Amino acid sequence: MADSNVDDRPICAQCGARGSQTPPVAVVLVFLEQMPEGYPLIPSAPYPLCEAEGRRGEPCESIMVFIESAIRAHVETSRAGEWSAAVICFGSATRLPWLVKRPLAHALARA
Ligand SMILES: [Zn+2]
Repeated sequence: MADSNVDDRPICAQCGARGSQTPPVAVVLVFLEQMPEGYPLIPSAPYPLCEAEGRRGEPCESIMVFIESAIRAHVETSRAGEWSAAVICFGSATRLPWLVKRPLAHALARA
C-alpha cells in the first residue's frame, strides 16, 4: 500500500528544489548576435522549467541550461554567435512569458 505522505513531486537536477515547476515550454524565442530579430525554438518533448529562486532571489540555473541546450540543438542558432536574451512562452494561457537576459557573469564564464 502506497504511503500517501510521500512527496513524489519532481526534484530539480540543478538546485534540488522539489515540485516548483512551470507548465511545459511551448516555444522559446532566442536573440543572438547574428539573429537580432529573434529565432523561435520549439522543444521536441515536454519541458517544464524549475521556478524555484535562490536565497538572493536569483532564478534557478536550469533556465540558463535549458536556453543554451536549445540553442546548441539547432544548427541555425548554434552558429549564430552568443545569445543575449530569450523569451520563454509556456503551454498555458494563464502563465505569462518570461524574459530572460543573459547575465554578464554567465557570458564571461563561457568566454
Ligand atoms: Zn531548480
